[in-house]
Amino acid sequence: MAKIAVISDIHSNLHALYAVMADFQSMQCGSVVCLGDVVGYNAYPQECVNEIRALGCPVVKGNHDAEVVHFAQLLKDPAQGSEFAIRMNPLARKAMEWNASRLDEDSLTWLRRLPLQRIERSKFAMVHSCLDQPMAWNYILNANDATGNFQRQFLPLCFHGHTHQPRVFTWDGRHASEHAEYWQQLVVEGETVVNLEQGRKYFINVGSVGQPRDGDPRACYAIYDSDAATVTLRRVEYDVAGAQQAVLSVGLPEYLAERLGTGQ
Ligand code: ZN
Repeated sequence: MAKIAVISDIHSNLHALYAVMADFQSMQCGSVVCLGDVVGYNAYPQECVNEIRALGCPVVKGNHDAEVVHFAQLLKDPAQGSEFAIRMNPLARKAMEWNASRLDEDSLTWLRRLPLQRIERSKFAMVHSCLDQPMAWNYILNANDATGNFQRQFLPLCFHGHTHQPRVFTWDGRHASEHAEYWQQLVVEGETVVNLEQGRKYFINVGSVGQPRDGDPRACYAIYDSDAATVTLRRVEYDVAGAQQAVLSVGLPEYLAERLGTGQ
């Protein structure tokens, strides 16, 4: 089980998902885990759910996975009204309604039943946003934000997503720190290796497969090597133009296609 691919925030981007799957297979990953937000924003919700389910891998629930189920209920019974629908920004909402209309009942049931967090093989924790309030969907943007998570993180390693920005946070027993050097190296070299030190806790954001937001449009994911005690963050080129074309051809907002090109 030495090498495990850790993927997150696929967001219905099948072009990016295929490229990342090919990459982690070429890197000899024996298994994969997924940190949620399989759907939302882009053009292939049903196809991405099918691919992730076919991998048979552990998956935790993201906010879009939760909300698409509510939107599907709303499509069936508009009289229900919905707080979360109102809370969402209009672009995400439009994409969410479209995504909800494309998913079959079995997929909606699968999404609804996903757990919010899980421990994998007693080795690491998985969560979409953070362990202290997984249902609040807080964005962990700096070391201060990460402090609450570390107080609930009992294993040395936890992976998360949600911000679509790869980040490495550590805890030395008293303070949380952010290590921007890893992200800087990732931008320049397309890969960075985090050596996991004994006595520290790591809370690592693996970035987004299907909608990166750190200014680098390449897909992003991580490989955890438990034998070598390393986490490698990787960028993967994919057919961005194809994914953009798909977004436009199904009538989703133009901005959602544009942002794939800029990685914002
Ligand atoms: Zn997301």
